[in-house]
Amino acid sequence: MEARWAHLLQEITANARETAAYTGRPVLSERVMAAMAKVPRIAFLPDDIRVDAYLNQPLPIGYGQTISQPFIVALMTDLLDLTPTDKVLEIGSGSGYQSAILAELVAEVHSVELVADLAKSAARRLAKLGYRTVHIHHGQGRRGWLQDAPYAAILVAAASPDIPPHLIEQLSVDGRMVLPVEEGYRDTGTYQKLLKIVKQRDNTLKQQHCLSVAFVPLVGRD
Ligand code: SAH
Repeated sequence: MEARWAHLLQEITANARETAAYTGRPVLSERVMAAMAKVPRIAFLPDDIRVDAYLNQPLPIGYGQTISQPFIVALMTDLLDLTPTDKVLEIGSGSGYQSAILAELVAEVHSVELVADLAKSAARRLAKLGYRTVHIHHGQGRRGWLQDAPYAAILVAAASPDIPPHLIEQLSVDGRMVLPVEEGYRDTGTYQKLLKIVKQRDNTLKQQHCLSVAFVPLVGRD
């Protein structure tokens, strides 16, 4: 394995240990780390910033959007407790990188992207890399993707002030959702917390607040 990539994986492991008090996940699962090791992040970046693929940072992918920080991709994926038969929904396809990580771990991935050009290029990129179980849809992610609901897990890659009601509806019983929610404002901008939700048998939600994060906003209304 490329040395810079091995170093990035070590950083992810260290980040998980350092943030365990907030996340409850000192060690990420072997399956998640294997997916992180396998998917080439470099293939999801615009040509001019490919040299930065190995940085544990979010990076610009055009249209004012970003590919998430690798540690956050790994953590959110881990928090979803995925099993190989799961069907998963992602909101905010962006580059398609997170979709590819999910596709390594589950049977079927649906991902909804608001920006048509990003949806098109993510779909093209994933097809070229051989991902046949990822379906990128252009649309308003706050409405989820009803055709293929319910989902065992939902990952939202953009921040909103609420938990979008359609997404709660499209989550199966015992389904898990991980999303950044806006908690207020600081001088650095909006302040968000990563939230994990589990939909209980009686339709109530079990909620766990994890660490502070910084995502682009989930745009628009239901
Ligand atoms: N998961 C992506 C990173 C996504 S960044 C990756 O791995 O590259 C957040 C994405 O959410 C952006 O592409 C943005 O266009 C998209 N987005 C913002 N609001 C949205 C909405 N309401 N519905 C669907 N996608 C949305």
